[in-house]
Amino acid sequence: MERKVELKVVNLKKYFPVQKSFLERLLSGKIEYVQAVNRISFEVRRGEVFGLVGESGCGKTTTGRLITRLIEPTEGKIIFKGEDVTFIQGERLREFRKYVQIIFQNPYASLNPRMRIGEATAHPLEIHGIATGERKKKMVFEMLEKVGLEPAKKFYDLYPFELSGGQRQRVAIARAMILNPELVVADEPISMIDVSLRAKILELMLMLKEERNLTYVFITHDLAVAKYISDWIGIMYLGEIVEIGRKEQIFSTPYHPYTKALLSAIPVPDPKREKKDIKLKGEVPSSINPPSGCRFHPRCSFAKDKCSNLKPSLKMVDKDHYVACHLY
Ligand code: SF4
Repeated sequence: MERKVELKVVNLKKYFPVQKSFLERLLSGKIEYVQAVNRISFEVRRGEVFGLVGESGCGKTTTGRLITRLIEPTEGKIIFKGEDVTFIQGERLREFRKYVQIIFQNPYASLNPRMRIGEATAHPLEIHGIATGERKKKMVFEMLEKVGLEPAKKFYDLYPFELSGGQRQRVAIARAMILNPELVVADEPISMIDVSLRAKILELMLMLKEERNLTYVFITHDLAVAKYISDWIGIMYLGEIVEIGRKEQIFSTPYHPYTKALLSAIPVPDPKREKKDIKLKGEVPSSINPPSGCRFHPRCSFAKDKCSNLKPSLKMVDKDHYVACHLY
């Protein structure tokens, strides 16, 4: 049986105006925009992990911030559990934040250096008026132990600088989970911690997901990490989603030339196995003036005439598998 849709993103768009001096604006006569996210649509089902994958600057972090309503979209819709939350404000937004949390990439910057670990973890409970005094402390102790910071008593009074990167990211996870959210956006949560600790953080996140039937949007530049944790994968390129499918489909039958190139770049552990690297031409173009038609066309070895003037839309190529490319 198909699971319920927890999150639906429809034609979501975010353009940031380029900051220019008064003189530059006067001379150019126009306002330019960074087209960070350009009309993307996808669904995430309850209890599943949607891996959002792409190179740095492709718009995946902006997407995470839009979903969690940390920034306002330019256009489009965000539907959470059937409710349009795109522009909710005040009490409704506060309520929404109880159910939707974010874990940031950098555990060194996301914790207030002047706040002890206990205070930082308890902060969401205070903001939402959920617990005070001894009950609050008990909830924090339980949460710290749940994320492997044991004994919690030892960590409660420490400052972030006294913890390793892995321990700090565990605090960030504890802080996100203490409100018992339903949807968690994890923005590159392991990219800044030691390689030896990454698997442990992923295992912790999967354990919490199973235990609480959580839904994740897991943002990463690393397809191998996405393969480990995701049920579904969406591939982003220059602000747009170019392919979506179940994890197995993306890895066994990728369609989009960009997805194929990303997959070919994953190291193969067996040196005897032949690996065919697909080299991409040139650099990622600017998202201020992105290429017309298919944004990938200047780098694509299969580009045809129409690729430069006609934008391909996402089309179903197999059940649950969608690709935006004129080849299909
Ligand atoms: Fe390449 Fe054309 Fe497909 Fe874009 S639409 S990925 S340029 S073949």
